[in-house]
Amino acid sequence: MKRVSLLGSTGSIGTSTIDVLNAYPDRFELISLAAGRNTDLLLKQAQKLRPKRVYTAENIEYVTNQLKPLGIDVVHGDKGLEELAADTDVDLVINGLAAGVGLRPTLAAVQKGTDVAIANKETLVVAGHLITEWAQKTGSALLPLDSETTPLWQSLQDTDRNDVKRILLPASGGPFFDWTKEQMASITRHQALNHPTWQMGPKITIDSATLMNKGFEVIEAQWFLDLPVSKVDVIIHRQSIVHCLIEYVDLGLMAHLSTPDMRLPIHQALVHPEKLPTQIEPLDLTKVGTLSFFEPDTDRFPCLQLAYDTVTMGGTAPTALNAANEIAVYAFLEGRIGFLDIPTIIRQTLEDHKTTPATEIESIFVADHWAREHAQRLVQKHQQ
Ligand code: MG
Repeated sequence: MKRVSLLGSTGSIGTSTIDVLNAYPDRFELISLAAGRNTDLLLKQAQKLRPKRVYTAENIEYVTNQLKPLGIDVVHGDKGLEELAADTDVDLVINGLAAGVGLRPTLAAVQKGTDVAIANKETLVVAGHLITEWAQKTGSALLPLDSETTPLWQSLQDTDRNDVKRILLPASGGPFFDWTKEQMASITRHQALNHPTWQMGPKITIDSATLMNKGFEVIEAQWFLDLPVSKVDVIIHRQSIVHCLIEYVDLGLMAHLSTPDMRLPIHQALVHPEKLPTQIEPLDLTKVGTLSFFEPDTDRFPCLQLAYDTVTMGGTAPTALNAANEIAVYAFLEGRIGFLDIPTIIRQTLEDHKTTPATEIESIFVADHWAREHAQRLVQKHQQ
């Protein structure tokens, strides 16, 4: 029986994960749940699944009053989230938290030697080298939870990395795939939140529309897959049916295909190395008909190139990238800046950032804090 802590239980990863866990009640025991703002759903989940502990970011008193009679402890604050992740009665932490809040609980779990399944890309983008280093020391396993990275990670388990010429990460291209730059200047929040194939939280949906999400996947692929970024390419694939491709040195390509359903990569990671049946819709290629692929356009979608650039810059550059992106995306969601201001603010933050070696977590926190404040100032300048 694997004892699980699910962080971000009310988000899209969290609810899909609960479906997967529920399919195997004899394999997984849910120890704790953590959620941010969706108190109603958190309470429903806790009442049904009866974890030992629950973290809530909001409505602390109300949640405590509701759950205490059921014998469920309620924790809150930064420390509360880290406590859940570092609990000694947890074997696996599933990190489905949104954006920057995912880092500290992952660190707490890894330092304890607990395995962590990570959907929260930001964590490995800012501190991938430190987390993988610690995980090696403590014996904690890091499992990717993503439609591209999970099947790649699984397929490459016993592959000599010298046999791999490159991997290809498909990106749907988002809702503005064929828009001109002029059209893109007036993109609204509503248009940007309308992703063609995946239903996700607002932050990652905007990251998908700018292609920053794919940039983050490129950066985290090196840590999860132990491959240099020079071997990680991105291809636009509109149908989201092909989830990853591996090109071997002999130029043969292996692809992983399925209907787009996040429960599949979550299932694959959680039952690894076994293959077990799932309830997802089978893929009927005759109904799909056509699969199309395009080169990504980094002129209209500069965020992807900015992500690659930070790998070359090294040190705290990916931290600054992530921090500036988070500030710019939330500013866009609040209607304070335009869609095309997002990459402009990130680029300017990177240009102004004095990259330092990220050999300690403290230097990452310092760079993160600086980049957030700097990006905030740039947002004010761009504010409409
Ligand atoms: Mg993905």
